[in-house]
Formats: sequence, structure tokens, C-alpha cells
Amino acid sequence: MVEPVELPTRIGILPFRNKVLLPGAIIRIQCTSPSSVKLVEQELWQREEKGLIGILPVRDAAEAMAVGDMVTQGADSGDKVSKNQSSESNKVEGKSQLEPLHWHTRGVAARALHLSRGVEKPSGRVTYIVVLEGLSRFSVQELNTRGTYTTARISPIDMTKSEMEQIEQDADYIALSRQFKQTAMELITVLEQKQKTGGRTKVLLETVPVHKLADIFVASFEISFEEQLSMLDSVDLKVRLSKATELVERHLQSIRVAEKITQKVEGQLSKSQKEYLLRQQMRAIKEELGDNDDEDDDVAALERKMQDAGMPPNIWKHAQRELRRLKKMQPQQPGYNSSRVYLELLADLPWQTTSEEVELDLKAAKERLDSDHYGLVKVKQRIIEYLAVRKLKPDARSPVLCFVGPPGVGKTSLASSIAAALGRKFIRISLGGVKDEADIRGHRRTYIGSMPGRLIDGLKKVAVCNPVMLLDEIDKTGSDVRGDPASALLEVLDPEQNKTFSDHYLNVPFDLSKVIFVATANRAQPIPPPLLDRMEVIELPGYTSEEKLRIAMRHLIPRVLNQHGLNSDFLQFPEAMVKLVIERYTREAGVRNLERKLAALARAAAVAVAEQEQEHNSLPLNHPISSPLLESRISAEGGGGVVEMEVIPMDVNNHEISNVFRIMSPLIVNEEMLEKVLGPPKFDDKEAAERVVTPGVSVGLVWTAFGGEVQFVEATATPGKGDLHLTGQLGDVIKESAQIALTWVRARASELNLATAEESNLLEGRDVHIHFPAGAVPKDGPSAGVTLVTSLVSLFSRRRVRSDTAMTGEMTLRGLVLPVGGIKDKVLAAHRYGLKRVILPERNLKDLAEVPSAVLASLEILLAKRMEDVLEQAFEGGCPMKPHSKL
Ligand code: ADP
Repeated sequence: MVEPVELPTRIGILPFRNKVLLPGAIIRIQCTSPSSVKLVEQELWQREEKGLIGILPVRDAAEAMAVGDMVTQGADSGDKVSKNQSSESNKVEGKSQLEPLHWHTRGVAARALHLSRGVEKPSGRVTYIVVLEGLSRFSVQELNTRGTYTTARISPIDMTKSEMEQIEQDADYIALSRQFKQTAMELITVLEQKQKTGGRTKVLLETVPVHKLADIFVASFEISFEEQLSMLDSVDLKVRLSKATELVERHLQSIRVAEKITQKVEGQLSKSQKEYLLRQQMRAIKEELGDNDDEDDDVAALERKMQDAGMPPNIWKHAQRELRRLKKMQPQQPGYNSSRVYLELLADLPWQTTSEEVELDLKAAKERLDSDHYGLVKVKQRIIEYLAVRKLKPDARSPVLCFVGPPGVGKTSLASSIAAALGRKFIRISLGGVKDEADIRGHRRTYIGSMPGRLIDGLKKVAVCNPVMLLDEIDKTGSDVRGDPASALLEVLDPEQNKTFSDHYLNVPFDLSKVIFVATANRAQPIPPPLLDRMEVIELPGYTSEEKLRIAMRHLIPRVLNQHGLNSDFLQFPEAMVKLVIERYTREAGVRNLERKLAALARAAAVAVAEQEQEHNSLPLNHPISSPLLESRISAEGGGGVVEMEVIPMDVNNHEISNVFRIMSPLIVNEEMLEKVLGPPKFDDKEAAERVVTPGVSVGLVWTAFGGEVQFVEATATPGKGDLHLTGQLGDVIKESAQIALTWVRARASELNLATAEESNLLEGRDVHIHFPAGAVPKDGPSAGVTLVTSLVSLFSRRRVRSDTAMTGEMTLRGLVLPVGGIKDKVLAAHRYGLKRVILPERNLKDLAEVPSAVLASLEILLAKRMEDVLEQAFEGGCPMKPHSKL
């Protein structure tokens, strides 16, 4: 069908800017520029026989310079080129004449299939529209751009007939042809199926030689200029075939992808909502492109996050079900958001993520505990034991440690040291005031605004499944109508059950068995017994003033300074001043308030320092500095004359100035500063003495959530009908203690010389009122028994109780003194208050072993078996009204 073409040696050239005409391709161009019009006129229009012109690609000067391109000054090619398939004409823009052109060295000879000539009105300019067919490749030997249009001396590069015959026998060539034909056939089949046309194109495959087919196929694809050029340059038939096969294959692929996308979309198309359709299309396109990090498509992002979350298989199934539901929903649909938030939680939870457990180094752990905490020898020892057991048997069921003690004694910081020693993350879950089981287990998702419980929430935050989790203030959970948080905690702490901890919101089990739980409580007593049973209580009693001083000097002050951007060059705390802060401004078992007071001082110092520094820095550098030298000069010059000022060069920058300042004047905390910053002293040693000035007041020791406390008891008598009034928010037990005390005193009124035999009633015509100051604080417990009796005896005998003596103990109706709890804290409290003597039940003697010896040394401990012993010690000079001898 296609005859071999005889090429002339010289040919008129039509430049194609950034475009290639391949043999076998058909193109329609509009010639308007003078040179191309002339070319067409002379080479095609006016010829008798059919003429040929050469189509030679040229490259924009701006494009990369191809090696081997010939460079000439610009030739005009202001012609419009359009492929015959498309009616739209591609503009081949004319460039300035002067711009160098990069001529390609190979071109294609073309003949005109159709020619039409037009005359533009009114200019009378002639234009041609030419339909060209590419015939065969040539290579340019020499280019002549001097004439109206470019001409070239060319030589053919296509194979001769005999060469062709030879190569057709080549095995590689045969294989390549077969492969090409097969791919081309596939493409045609796909296209025919798509366009549902008959199989006319297939005939081509049989009739046209395969190397021509390669050109024809490639010419019909939208490919880049570079690819077109390389096809043009593929003179070798094998190269050409394999290149063409590759391009056909690529085209086929892109059609298939497009098809797949459409199919996918159609497959999922159940509702005919436009928006939905578009969304699906977008998703499919992105999937095909592997375009994964587009943030808009956050459901896909969520899905990926879920895949990475490492959920156990059954939970993964559940999550996928939920995800499918989500995908079917519109974002505006109710429930979409809650479903999303839920899935986000599933994806965020550390199902398997662990922080790598470092090899536990007991020595380092001990050093760390020691460096972070002063004292607490026994507690630290117990922690080391605990760690040692873990080291030997990591999966052993170690007990849950529960630190019990007043606030600010270092419970939290000990727990975080454990985490640090184990190289695990630390999370604190505050349970104070948790009354609702849902706080721990979450709300079911049917509730609006439902959330997971604090544990699951905490795990999401730490993002590992093996943190050290501090259950803070476990004694402050209470149960009410909303369920019992303690029972949920029981499940959490039980190694049998916590593998499948169920959170109502999460609705799937979560394995808590890798978490190390540590609990804290102010008191052990309110903790429900089953819960307490799961824990090992470690008591932290509170510190003596001496210990607090050491803690402050070694730990708190450096930390506080650091937190405020200061150091000891700025601010110094003399020991004596810290002692004053401890004694006069804080009276607590722990060191939390002490830390706060120190921080207040540091803040004040920081302000002072910052202000002074600013003053210094704002000093202009050539500020006239009054120096003796300057002053003497001024006076020497006499008044009125022009003073030649000496500017002293200050060769220091601001930073250095402030450093100089620092070194020069560190702020030292003194008593004046204490008063200014912290206000007048809150406590002093004279408090007890001042309050016990009247008969009827006695000093007791009680135990509260804040550690031991001194509790005054005031009794007074008023005319009345013999009633007992009690005030100060008292619980039942303490009220009964008061009754017992009054009864006991009345029973012994005459023995104790409190009344004559006739008025032994004691309550004749008068009421007794007992008050426990700090009226806003609820009080209860039996340990005020001896204090109550002492205050009543003092009242009736009108004798003052010793102001340096505090007491504690329960009393029976018969006057026996029974032991009470919290001895250590109470003795420490007495010590803090500066009291000198403490009366304790005799059977509490053993508890004194826990009291630091420094404290014991500064106190006189008096043991009492019976009430009379207490009274003997409570009054100056012994019990004033010696009971009758029992002998
Ligand atoms: P708690 O949890 O018992 O209420 P924290 O652990 O929060 O108390 O301790 C309060 C502050 O006191 C923390 O800054 C802590 O580091 C510090 N602290 C408590 N005891 C000591 C101690 N023995 N040595 C050093 N610092 C301590």
C-alpha cells in the first residue's frame, strides 16, 4: 500500500516548532507567514507533479539545547499546525527573527494530501491550508537559511528494500514484531470495545509493514516532544519497535486505569447523589495514584492509622465494621462525628506500642532515688526491693504499691522515679472526687457527648501500653448512686481481670496487664478493704523541720531557682531564713507549701532582678558619667565655658553588664524580705501558750488527711439546765467521746475535788459547752477522749492545763486509756508546733519506733494507762485534786 519514496537531494524545509511529524502521520497546517507561504507556493502549489517538503523539528531557544542540533538565526514559522483528527488548531507561535533556532538534524519528508489557497481581505495576503502526510525520514547534511525559505541538502536514512528483507529474517526482529503486534492488537481491542465500533483497524495490522505501523501508532498518542524526537531518531528498526511497544503498552495501561476507576465508581454507586459519586471518583483516582498523604482525605488517613495501630484481630474486625459504616455515611449525617471520634480513639490507643524496657540497673535506680529524694530510707529500700523482684521475674505478679501519707511528702515524685528507673513513661490519673463509675469506665456511646474513662484516656495520652500509671488519691473515690468506682478499680488492679479491661465507651476489651500501677492515698482507712487487699501500703509519715530544711536546701531551692530562671548568683537562701519559712509560714507534714513559699520568694527576686537589669541596660552607653575626674575638670574650667566632655568608652555589651551586676549583688533573702513577700508570720511557738490561758482549754493531737495536727479543745460552762452542747462539725464517735468524758468527770467529781458532796452533780443549774476550733473542718474519731476529760477537769477545777503538753488517747467509761492510730504523725505535729511534752496511751509505746529519733530527743513522751495518769501529767505540779487512794 505504501510505496517506497524517492527522496530528492535538496528539499524545501518547513520548520515545526517543538513538534514532530512522524512517517504515516497526517497533519493539517495553516501557513500564514511569508516564508512558509512561499515554500508551499513554490514546492507544492506550482509544481506539476506532486512535490515533497521536509518537516524539520526546531527547538525553542529557551528549551534545553539538544546535542547535535544545528543552530541558525531565527526562521519564521508563524504557521498554525493542527492534527487532522482534531479540529482545534495548535498554534505554532512565531518568534523573533533574531532568536537562534535549534534545528534537529533529522526530519521527515511529507507530501500534500490536500491543498487550499485563500486570500485574506482586505490585505490581499495569500494563505494556504495544507494537509500533509509524513512519508520517510531523512537526515540533514547542510542547511541553507539564506533564501525566503530554508532549504536543506538531505540524504535518506530509511532502509533499502534489500536491507529490509534481510532484517525481516532476524529472529530478534521477528520476536519484537510479534510482541508489538500483540500489544497493538490488545489496544485496538480495548478501544473498539470502548467505542463499540467494528474491527476495521485490525485490518491495518495485517496489511501495513510493522515498522510503519510503529510510527503510525505512536503518532496518534499524546506524547512529549522529547519522546516524539526520540521516535524520529529511532532509525534502527529494532529500537523503533521496542520503543513503540513500550508506548503502546503505556497507552493501554492508562486506558485500563481509567476503566478501572470508572468501574470502581460504578460498582459502588448505589445512591445516585452527585456529591457522593464525585467523592468516590476522587478516592479511586487517589488510590490509583498512590497519593497517600493528601490530608483532605482524612477517612483514608484514619484507615491507614488504624492499620498501623496494631489492634488484636478481633478488635480489628470490629474496627473495620465501624469504618465501613462511617464510609457509608455523609459527613453531615448525625452520628458521623461520633463514629469518627470513636475510630480515632481506636486508632490512637497503644494496642501494642510499648516503650522499650531498659535493662534495669538497680544501682543506678538507687542512686536516682537517693538523688531525687532526701531521707525516706525505708521507703526507698522497699522500692528497690520491688524493682529487684521485677528484674528477676519481669512477669511476676508484683503487688501494687500504694504510698500513703499526707500531701507533699513525695508520693508522686517517688512513683515517677520508679517509672524513670524502669525506663517507662509515667502517667498520673487523678481519682480525687471520682464518684461516678463512668469516670473510670467511660460512658456508653449511646450517650451524647460520651467519653472514654480516665484510664483509657490516659493510655491514649501516653501512647504506650506499658506505662507506670499512678492512681492518685485512691482513697478519695466514693460510691454513690452513679455506681461504685472502687469496683471498677478492683478490676483494673486484678491481674486476672485486667487483661480484658472493659471500658463502656470503647466497648472492646483492652489489655491493661502491661501497665504498672502505683497508687497514692492520704489515708489507708477510707480505701475499701477489697481494694486495699490488692495493694501493699507503704507509709510516708511526713517530715520533721530538720528534714524539711535539708530537703529545701538540697532539692527544693535549686529546683525553684531553676524554674524561675535564676541561680545562686542572683538569689541566695540562707539556712536560717529557710528555717524561719518552715517554722513561721508553713506548718504541714509535707513540703508542698514550703515549695510554694520558696517559689514566691524566687518570683519576687526575679522581678527585682529583671527590673534592675532593665535599668542597667537602658543606660545609654555614652551617658555622661559623673566621675571625680569629670567633676574636677568641670570645676577647673570655671562656670559658663564649653566643657570638653570625655566620653568613656564602655567596651562591654549588655550581657556582660548584667553578668557584672549578677556577680556584684546577689539578692540574699532576709527577714524583711520574708515579711514583705510572704506577709506577717502565720505561726509561732507561742500559739499554744496563748490559747491555753484560761481553764477549760486543752491541747489534743489528731490525725487528718493532711497528717497529724494539733487540736485544741475548749470547754466552758454557762447557766442552764444541765445540757451538753457540742460544736465544731463533730462526727458521732467524737460526740459520744464527749458524753463519756462528761460522765466520767461527773462520776469522779468528789474524788477529784471538783465539787463538794452536795453539788456533785456538777451540772446543777449550768450547761456545758465544748467546742473544737477550726469549726469549718469536720472532725471525728475516738482519740480526743483524754483531751476532752482534761479540758472538763480544767474547767471545773478552774486550773490551767500546761501549755507545753499535748495528748491523745481513747478513754473507756471506766477511765482506761486505749491506744490510738497515727502516733507518728501526731508526735511529728506536736514537734512542729514546738510543744515539749506529749502524753500517749501506754500501749502505743511500740509505735514510737517509727518516730525519727531527732524528734523523740526533743520531746518528753509520757505514757498513760489510766485517765488519772493523764491528768497527773497535764497539770502543772501534777493532778491538783489527787483522787482518793484506792488502797
Ligand atoms: P505528694 O504526691 O505526696 O502529694 P509530691 O510527690 O507531689 O507529693 O511532692 C511535692 C514536692 O516535694 C515535689 O516537688 C517533690 O519533689 C518534693 N519532695 C517531697 N519529698 C521529698 C524528698 N524527700 N526529697 C526531695 N524532694 C521531695
